[in-house]
Amino acid sequence: MRQLLSLWLPRSAFGRFLWEKKSYSLSKDAIFPSRIRAKNPKLAQLLSPLGTSIRIPFLYARAMDTKQNYHMPEDEFRRWGHAIVDWIAEYQDRVPSMPVLAQVKPGEIRSRLPSAPPQKGESFQQVFEDFEKLILPGVTHWQSPNFFAFFPSNTSGPSILGELLSAGLGIQGMLWATSPACTELETHVLDWVAEMLSLPAAFRSGGTGGGVIQDSASSAVLCAILAARERVTQFHTNEAGCDGRLIAYTSPHAHSSVEKAVKIAGIGRRNLKLIEADANFEMRPQSLAEQIVQDRKSGLIPFFVSATLGTTSSNGFDPLEEIGEICREEKLWLHVDGAMCGTAGLCPEFAPLFKGLQFADSYCFNPHKWMFTNFDCDCFFVANRASLIKSLSILPEYLRNQATESGAVIDYRDWQVPLGRRFRALKLWFVIRHYGIEGLQFHIRRHVELAHQFATWVKNSNDFELMARAPLNLVCFRHRSGDDFNQKLMARLNQTGQIYLTHTLLNGTYVLRFCVGQTRTELEHVKGAWELICRTAVEIPN
Ligand code: PLP
Repeated sequence: MRQLLSLWLPRSAFGRFLWEKKSYSLSKDAIFPSRIRAKNPKLAQLLSPLGTSIRIPFLYARAMDTKQNYHMPEDEFRRWGHAIVDWIAEYQDRVPSMPVLAQVKPGEIRSRLPSAPPQKGESFQQVFEDFEKLILPGVTHWQSPNFFAFFPSNTSGPSILGELLSAGLGIQGMLWATSPACTELETHVLDWVAEMLSLPAAFRSGGTGGGVIQDSASSAVLCAILAARERVTQFHTNEAGCDGRLIAYTSPHAHSSVEKAVKIAGIGRRNLKLIEADANFEMRPQSLAEQIVQDRKSGLIPFFVSATLGTTSSNGFDPLEEIGEICREEKLWLHVDGAMCGTAGLCPEFAPLFKGLQFADSYCFNPHKWMFTNFDCDCFFVANRASLIKSLSILPEYLRNQATESGAVIDYRDWQVPLGRRFRALKLWFVIRHYGIEGLQFHIRRHVELAHQFATWVKNSNDFELMARAPLNLVCFRHRSGDDFNQKLMARLNQTGQIYLTHTLLNGTYVLRFCVGQTRTELEHVKGAWELICRTAVEIPN
């Protein structure tokens, strides 16, 4: 019936109505009065099974209320859009005076939220007021210049605007065809990044390899392991699964994402061998070589090494040239994780730290850590894209398209685990264009200088000691009074809300980590932190 009506009414008019089915009950008497039925006994007999009433179905059209469509009206979106950008700008000014570490207890934020979702939509004014009142107190302010914890996750104006535009466009760039600019900008920007960091030519799209933006370094190492697994088994594992003989290697100081990737990839945690590190928390190549020989003798198949440039706990730099030689000789896939420190490759004076990258099969670093680009953004480079693509590519009918078939385009869905992908290249492009290489170098150098200043204060103090080399922006230190004292010191410092730092264990010893990498961290913040640390240490009973 609807189809018939749609033929009869112009299509545009048809779309403006809501078509509804109804039925009404009418008494038999109202339709066929008893005198008519009395005169027609056959009709009366026919109607008798229907009882006292007859249901009459019919279809009717109701004009659709186009004003009541529940969407946010354009003028309101505009008003709130401007207000929120203003809010973010003001937030950046007031964040230094906010408690860095959220001062709430577990469950406190949830307990303030309504237990059920609203049946009827609420005004955005109300929603935003609740964001400020209920959510903000539970936020740890990563963008505070007094944030010295973990590794940073810094942002910048151009990056936030890029992120906003990406949300506004709302595209999904799984294929070149689903948004050519998303793919081509990404390829182009990653070639720029490779050039900015002086990466080997193989990592550029014009050669055998190329770069892709992953959500995180964890995804990058997972993709590397998957490609390595397939390369060593001639793509047989994708078909038949793992047989438990593949062996991966890393150092005990590598990030936990390597272990996670090994588990996800079906290699098995027991098949990830931790190669001993030296006094600087850097992998010993000799031990790696010996372990590989031993494993081969046992009938195992060594296939993958993950080396780190800037370990999380101590900023150790694994000796890439020697590890690389071993991998090349033994035909092992070498993945290099430069998650935070990779950004330092922008400055020629730090280039010696990155020597040996020509041996890497894959390399990743996170602009979302130290390159003023909002989380998430990890640049992942491979020297030979064919292994990666062949490992991860699946082409169901519904994704087939002419561009893919022509072979002339990149479909980044084949370079990552998920199918869908955001337009992340936009924010990275904005950041690079806004700062230029010069601006980025300026800030990286400044952060390193500030961290070294902090390290000098520690070194010159009678109460504190340095616990690892500080080649870049991470200082590992501790008070000389032992583990308990340092734990108490860190807890007290973080409770003040004035600074936030985190800890690690180095050789079984509790160590405080102080990492300088926030966009707006200046000397006054680092000096203020050091003075607070010294003052607080004096207050703790020894
Ligand atoms: N690798 C290193 C050296 C890290 O320090 C980190 C996180 O801090 C990671 C990998 C994981 O980073 P992501 O959060 O991007 O997965």
